[in-house]
Amino acid sequence: MTAVKSVADYIRTIADFPHEGIMFRDVTTLFADPRGMRLCVDQMLHPYAGEPIDKVVGLEARGFILGGAIAHQLGTGFVPIRKKGKLPGTVISEAYTLEYGEAIMEVHDDAIQPGERILLVDDLLATGGTAEAGIKLVERLGGVITGCAFIVDLPDLGGRKRLEGLGFDVHALVAYE
Ligand code: 5GP
Repeated sequence: MTAVKSVADYIRTIADFPHEGIMFRDVTTLFADPRGMRLCVDQMLHPYAGEPIDKVVGLEARGFILGGAIAHQLGTGFVPIRKKGKLPGTVISEAYTLEYGEAIMEVHDDAIQPGERILLVDDLLATGGTAEAGIKLVERLGGVITGCAFIVDLPDLGGRKRLEGLGFDVHALVAYE
């Protein structure tokens, strides 16, 4: 008899990517597996069963893969938050801090209507800078964050505390200390 696998079993760790000393949590192996993908989407949605959600917002790039699947499952629309310069229409922007320097995220200014309830999704929460930039963009358009769902949390990097400290509901399926 084979044991039932958990989401963590489908995630691969690659040492020294993209820099020496980084243990990169590679979710492409999870996405590539039919059982892994389904399990992941089902478990990310589990805390939100019965909650009214109007749109799913995904952060570039792995948040698009998850967000599309989750939006399909919920029967909602999907909105991409992209790195600067990628979206063709009129955008609003938010700068945020990376390990080295700054980056800018953008969303179309008509993608979310005031009062819409939003589930924000990404693959991994580290410092929380990327997610916070996404939350700010959603809120600037009048969206209301119902929750923030991730596959992986790296609690040592403080992202969960940062987002929870701002009053947001955070769910992750796997934590690596
Ligand atoms: P933060 O802004 O929370 O510090 O970093 C989170 C962002 O970096 C996410 O968009 C995530 O995709 C990416 N990221 C950082 N480290 C990893 C990692 O080990 N694995 C994966 N899959 N993504 C990572």
